[in-house]
Amino acid sequence: MADVTLRKVIKRYDEVEAVRGIDLDIADHEFVVLVGPSGCGKSTTLRMIAGLEDITDGDIMIGGDVVNDVPPKDRDIAMVFQNYALYPHMTVAENMSFGLRLKRYPKAEIKTRIDEAARMLDIVELVDRKPKQLSGGQRQRVAMGRAIVRNPKVFLFDEPLSNLDAKLRVQMRIEIKKVHQKVRTTTVYVTHDQVEAMTLADRVVVMNHGRIEQIGTPNELYHNPATRFVAGFIGSPAMNFLPCRLEDVAGRLHIRLTDRLAFPLPPARAARYQGVSRDDKLQLGLRPEHITEASAHAEPGVETFEAMLDVTEPMGMETLIYFTLEGAQICGRVNPNAGARDGAPLRLAVDLNNMHLLNEATGAVL
Ligand code: ADP
Repeated sequence: MADVTLRKVIKRYDEVEAVRGIDLDIADHEFVVLVGPSGCGKSTTLRMIAGLEDITDGDIMIGGDVVNDVPPKDRDIAMVFQNYALYPHMTVAENMSFGLRLKRYPKAEIKTRIDEAARMLDIVELVDRKPKQLSGGQRQRVAMGRAIVRNPKVFLFDEPLSNLDAKLRVQMRIEIKKVHQKVRTTTVYVTHDQVEAMTLADRVVVMNHGRIEQIGTPNELYHNPATRFVAGFIGSPAMNFLPCRLEDVAGRLHIRLTDRLAFPLPPARAARYQGVSRDDKLQLGLRPEHITEASAHAEPGVETFEAMLDVTEPMGMETLIYFTLEGAQICGRVNPNAGARDGAPLRLAVDLNNMHLLNEATGAVL
């Protein structure tokens, strides 16, 4: 097993700079997910680690060795793709053993590795079938099995679950996590799905326009996003953003949302934002779970106001509510028994202890 390091890695295709100078340190055993919208450069980054794309500039190291000029087959990596790339005329066992047979591993060793991987992936009874006799989820398992039997230094996954239906994706996510807990091979996984990224990763790398926006554990990214992009990308329903500014009212720092709506900031927040210019155009970032039904008891840092609900969405365990403030659509999450109804007013509470304040011009979280 091995660590993977990227140093100032750049990839240019003619005019397009797909990857714009990436620094990344992936520890041995770590599960790192590259996530971001389509075209942000995540697949290109993965393919450069695999050696399937040349790098324009910078260095890539696997296990401490610079591999810039090492061909893919000599990098000791195994890649799992979304289209599985199984050989249709070979059985599951033959597909899984193909790489080992090419490398002339002893038959007994191949059998041991296939048995072990098949057990781990729960496909023991499928090893004599051909790919066309398998479901999508089973094919995905075989593709993973083929990677596991090679016992590589690094696993690379390129959107491996995007061809599966939603339910199977959730199940396979758990399978991949279990497999990683067992084999603990350093893993780099690419997806555009932030839920997949959050649920699988030790650390998530959020990419945008060929650059890394932020690297962190799922909880760090969720609770302490560094930029507007990360704040809006991670979390579903997404964080709400409202134009606002800071204002001093009777010696206390307030956040003003509309002519009629301003809230005093809790002391910790007031101290944090004291130095921010009162003239700056700002945005208040609030996650939907921090806009809830008002309770009978006042809590510090929680302010209430009345909103006219546009639409409500009962989800069972909670109800999502949507209302409009100064032209912005806001989403909140209330108890299903809170009495939220389409087109009716509801008294709401905003938890400013969990607010984010962003500079509108730079997108930085303050
Ligand atoms: P992602 O995986 O995040 O969707 P990619 O890494 O595939 O993004 O692509 C990043 C950028 O590089 C995109 O603008 C894409 O159009 C461009 N790109 C990718 N591959 C090529 C190529 N072979 N030739 C030219 N441009 C490419």
